[in-house]
Amino acid sequence: MTRRHPHQRLRIAEGGPDAPHALFARAREADRFHPRDRTLPFSAVLSGAMLGQAGYRVALDEIASDSTVSLNDRLDAVFVEIAFGQMPFYRPVLERLRGRVDLVAAYGPYAEAHPEAVLDAGAVAVIDGDPESVVSPLAAWWRSGRRPAPPPGLWWRDGRTLRHSGAAPSAKTDELPFVPASVLRSERYHKYSFPLALGRPLHWGFILATRGCFYSCRFCSSMARQSYRLTYRRCAPERLVAEMDYQVREAGRTVLSVEDEIFTGDRKWAMEICRLLAAKNRRTPWIIQTRLDHMDEELADALRTAGCVGMTCGVESGSDDVLERLNKKSKVAEIRRSAAMLDRLGFRNRYTFMIGAPGETPDDVRRTERLARELNPLIAQMSFCTPYPDTALAEGLAGETAMRHTDRPWGNVSEMPDEIIARLRRRFYRRYYLSARYLDAHLADWLGYAWHNPGRAAILTWKALAFFGRVLFSGDATGRCVPDNPPASGRAAPSQRVREVT
Ligand code: SF4
Repeated sequence: MTRRHPHQRLRIAEGGPDAPHALFARAREADRFHPRDRTLPFSAVLSGAMLGQAGYRVALDEIASDSTVSLNDRLDAVFVEIAFGQMPFYRPVLERLRGRVDLVAAYGPYAEAHPEAVLDAGAVAVIDGDPESVVSPLAAWWRSGRRPAPPPGLWWRDGRTLRHSGAAPSAKTDELPFVPASVLRSERYHKYSFPLALGRPLHWGFILATRGCFYSCRFCSSMARQSYRLTYRRCAPERLVAEMDYQVREAGRTVLSVEDEIFTGDRKWAMEICRLLAAKNRRTPWIIQTRLDHMDEELADALRTAGCVGMTCGVESGSDDVLERLNKKSKVAEIRRSAAMLDRLGFRNRYTFMIGAPGETPDDVRRTERLARELNPLIAQMSFCTPYPDTALAEGLAGETAMRHTDRPWGNVSEMPDEIIARLRRRFYRRYYLSARYLDAHLADWLGYAWHNPGRAAILTWKALAFFGRVLFSGDATGRCVPDNPPASGRAAPSQRVREVT
């Protein structure tokens, strides 16, 4: 029996009456394993927009593993996003697509790491690289009857032999299309993690101006980044400003999130953007993601003048030892100075922390807790340090790490037992969000957000109650988790297996 889910196919490109149909499929939110918020999936949307430029009719769907809602229609090509932890979900989808759709290709961290498993399940090609630089050439090659040679960035099978067509070029940031207004206007994507009080309803726009990052933090995974690759690239400042204008003008966006991994990584570039925006006297607020050690007062001032109202920064830990072990290349003193300066200038920030790093002790966690309370951001998020398979942290570890790691540590690489980590994290949240200092600084923000965004606030409250109900008050730190290779009964849980190997 199949179910129809109330979602939600999003039109990315219209195409003509005889246009070939392409679909980008990804797991619906309830089945995704990494808490990626409701942030726009750039790879699907931009690759889809490029296919649209090539004459395709393109849609984006969020599907359930037993859903055929997206698959019954006439489709010439389906591109499936597969992240770590999602193969059990996608195997039945790929099996159903096999033979029914001419071109079934997969992309994403898991697909890149395990092309053979994905090809065996039913895909005819696996994309290895930025989908934006491979999807259109792949579709053209397929429609031409697979002549002459496949474009670079593909795994496929030739009989029983696995073949690779060579490294794909990185997506060129200046040549990418803008995020289509039709996708933004759908309101499907909303940054629940940034409940800003801006005196108006928040209609989020999303932009990716740079790709990659020149740091190599040991925990950094493409599961948590917008860029598949770390190669650092940035678009021309004028292009970013033009896309901001487009999203406000054509899609009615009232706030913009620039989702770059490290917006101020190139200070001169960031300053030029601020100069262009200030000269236009733009009024639409925007937020960024960056590192606190890539911030100084002049730059912060320029950002504020240009309308930037907040930022997400990865703090990770209040212990220099832990930061060093994570190869974060930042110091607590520097973080403290920078955050205090941003606070003084009135930015509303979201800082992310981590628990369960290698060698981390309960004392280190206390330092992190104290630092968070001192910085007192609008949102403090603590994630479990997770050795995703594409990280340096996972080197030497065995087993697939699949997880809903909002609920429990997975592949625990610290010396602390899982239950201690989960308990310390519960304590972190309880002490942070229920403190007088937090409520004094941010209650008005929450009320302002709720007043102008009542529907979103209701959803957020429901999500928060469900999350905090589990995290704060339940003694049960375990949640749902579905490994890619589920352990046979009697075998150790994956986190234990990882520890055995270490
Ligand atoms: S700074 Fe951020 S994006 Fe860059 S490697 Fe570290 S965690 Fe990844």
